[in-house]
Parts: sequence; structure tokens; C-alpha cells
Amino acid sequence: MMTVTTATRSVEGMRPGPELASALADVDLSAVDGFEVVEVLKAGRRLASWAASLEVRAAAELERRAVASEEQPCGVDAVEFVTCEVEAALTLTAMAAGNLMHLARSLVERLPGTLAALTDGRIDVAKARVICDGTHLTSPGVPEFVENAVLPLAPTRTTGWLRAAVRKAVIVADPGTFEDKRANAEASARVELWQTPDDTANLAGCDLPLGEASRAFNRITAIATALKTDGDPRPLDYVRALVFQALLLGQDPFLGAVLDLPPDPHEHTGDPIGTAERTDGNQAQRPQATATERQTGTQATARTPTPTNAANAANAANAKTLAKIQAEVDAEAELAADRRVAAALTRTLRETLTHTLARAEKAHERVWLIAEAAHRIHETLTALKVPGCATHTTEDGHVVHGHNGYRPPATMRRAIQARDQRCMFPACRRPAIQCDLDHTLAYHLGGPTCPCNLAALCRHHHRAKGAGGWNLIHLWPGVLLWISPTAHWYLTGPDP
Ligand SMILES: [Zn+2]
Ligand SMILES: [Zn+2]
Repeated sequence: MMTVTTATRSVEGMRPGPELASALADVDLSAVDGFEVVEVLKAGRRLASWAASLEVRAAAELERRAVASEEQPCGVDAVEFVTCEVEAALTLTAMAAGNLMHLARSLVERLPGTLAALTDGRIDVAKARVICDGTHLTSPGVPEFVENAVLPLAPTRTTGWLRAAVRKAVIVADPGTFEDKRANAEASARVELWQTPDDTANLAGCDLPLGEASRAFNRITAIATALKTDGDPRPLDYVRALVFQALLLGQDPFLGAVLDLPPDPHEHTGDPIGTAERTDGNQAQRPQATATERQTGTQATARTPTPTNAANAANAANAKTLAKIQAEVDAEAELAADRRVAAALTRTLRETLTHTLARAEKAHERVWLIAEAAHRIHETLTALKVPGCATHTTEDGHVVHGHNGYRPPATMRRAIQARDQRCMFPACRRPAIQCDLDHTLAYHLGGPTCPCNLAALCRHHHRAKGAGGWNLIHLWPGVLLWISPTAHWYLTGPDP
């Protein structure tokens, strides 16, 4: 039986906002007909656009306040480091937060028509981003011209159409702009490497000059095509990837790609899984041994150790490395125990702070409560953590907390990198080995060079801590409390 929303009214054509959200929450999808299901689909997208407009307005407002604030050390830093607040609040990478800030700034400052269309749910955030990117760095007046040209049709067209339409409108309004945009993009040319979820890697040259990039691609294709003409049975894309890799590694792509060919089953005895090759190990290894013999001018049999020599060598190796291995095992066990303690402490502190701050009703109360709670926790824990801290003895015989000097010794640096494993800013995943070691309480203010006062911070977040209005309290070695310029707090510690 066709039952159209009897208990609730149809969401068809409803403007996005609280009323639509409430109507959608009441819809029982299993009780409405197919027409209404599609209307719910469309209404959900309109509501998401409206919510996205709130997000970009909030992000732009945050930046406006940071720029206007006289408390900031300087306006440029305020613009850059407001991104850190967004990173921590939304658990975004620095790049994703930067993209959101760019969208927010563009929509609020130069694309009011696009922002209005997003707020009304006429376009979604993907289309807003196309208009934002397409009009970036254009002359004054051009964004408005482009909006007038593309927005009337944008709700019923795809992002692909919109991208082409924006480009066409920009060329009409400001023919010279693409030269500026190209030069600007080429100035940020770079090579990027990132790991995929399948444990492979992507390697890309970004914002390269179009001509050079095309020539490079054509060269790779020409070599790959030649290899295929020579009989390589694998797909062109795969051979092209091998050639790309070989060229970058300084290898001969012809030689490398041919050597990577899978064994031709016709050359073997017809055994599909290669059992014959595995059972005849000497035969399989012979070509390699022969090549080595040619290089050294000796015979393989002369280098083969006798059973007695091999046993002696193994015993000697064991004797030399046993203590070292044991020390490494002990150190790893100690590190694992330390990380478990820190992780448990982080959970407890998070609960304590959440409970404490639940009492705060106003912003100034939050700031006071965080400061008070952090101070109390820090005082309590200091007595516990001092026994594990580094010390040194001064010339007059006093034992002082921390290593003698600003730079931590190599062993301390490695221990902190192993403890933190990554940048200790919320949401940042940069490996600790690529980070600075930051004195949480500055060395010149009396902060010790000690694991209880040193933490791995990437360069971006190291500078954010210094100039972005953040407060950082090292509650326990490897457990840090971050308090943002807007009085939000984040506790970072070892991953569970
Ligand atoms: Zn210490
Ligand atoms: Zn970082």
C-alpha cells in the first residue's frame, strides 16, 4: 500500500534550517513511498549545505576575531595560527583546516552570492568550492561577474560543468588572470608522497609547468609502449608505472622493466606453481653465483665457510649481541610500561577535566577552572615524576633537575621520540623523528632539559605554541594539556 507521510508532512521544497531538520528527524523512511525517499535525499543535501554555510561563517568569524585581537603578537601569525584552533576542534590535518579556512575567507569576503546559494541549499559545498577555487586570485569585480554567469544554472548542473563554466567566465572577464594564477601555482611546485590504505604509495609532482609535465608523461608512455611492442604482456598503465619508478631511481627503464617480467610459464616444465624450481635450489642459484665469480675472479666454493667455521662465527656473533639484544628488550619493555602508565593517566585526566569543566557556565569560568585544575594536577604529579627525571650536579655540588644545557643529549632525544612517536599537537600525525623537541616551559624561564619538560612538536605547531596564543602544560612525561586561545582544552598522550 502506498502510504505517503501521514504523520509528517512532505519535505519537498522546504527551505533548509531548523524546521527542515526537525521534519527530517520525524520521517520514517520505511513508511514513505519512493517519491518521498528521493525528496528526503534532496532535503538532506540541502540541510548539509546549510550546515556547511554555518561552518564556514564560524571559521571566518574566528579568523576575523584573531586578526582584530590586540592580544595577538602580530596579525600575520593570527591568520596562520587560527588554523590550529580549527585543526584541533574538528580533528583535521593542517592542510584540510587550511582548505576550510580558505573556503570560509573566500565565501565571506568575495563570494557573497555563492555563500547565499550554499545557505539556501541551492548548491552544495563541492560546487561552492569549485567557484571558490576558480575565482581565486582574480581581479576585483571578476568573482561577482562569475557568480552572475554561473549561479543561475549551477543548481541543476554537475561540478564538471561548473568548473568549465567558471573558467570560461573568468577568461571573458579577466583574460590575463590565468597567467597570474599559473605563475602563482608554479611557484608552489612540489613533490608529494603519501601512503595509501592498501600499503602502497602515491608519488606525485604537483603544480609542474604544463609543457614539461606533458613531455615527461609522453616520454614515459613512449618507453612503456616500446616495451609492450617488444612483448611485455602487462597493461600499459602498469608498465608506465614501472618506467616512471625506474627513471626516478636512475635505473635503465628498458633493463629494469624487462627484468621485472613475471616468469614465462612456457619456459618451465609446465609446473604451474614452480615446484620444479624450488626443489632444485642449486640450479636456481647458479646464475647469481656465476655473476659474482666474474666480478671477484674467485670461485664460489672457495668462499663457502666450513661447518666448524660457521658454528664459531655464529657463537661469536651470539656472544657479542646477546647483551645488546637483552638491553634493547629491557628498554622496550620499560618504554611500553611507561606508555601504558601515560595512556591510563591521560584517560583519567580527561575524565577529571571533563567533570570539572561541566560546572563552568561562562567562558571566563572555563578559563579559570582549566587553569586551576591544571595547576592542581601538575602540583600533585610533580612529586611523582621527579624520581624518573634527569639531573646534573653543579660545580658547587648541588643536584639540579634536568640535563646540563639547552640541547638534550642523543639518548634523551631518542627516548622522547620513542615515547611521543608523533607531534604532540592534537590531531597532528607528523612522526616525532621529523619534529623539534620543545621545552614546554621555556629553558630561559627555568624549564629543565628533561623528558618531563620536552615534547615532540612539528615546526608548524612549535611556532603555533610560541606565537598562536596557546597555553601548554606538561602534566606528566608525554601527557600534555593544550588550552586554545578560545579556552578549549585538548589532552594529548600516547595512543592507546
Ligand atoms: Zn624532569
Ligand atoms: Zn604538528
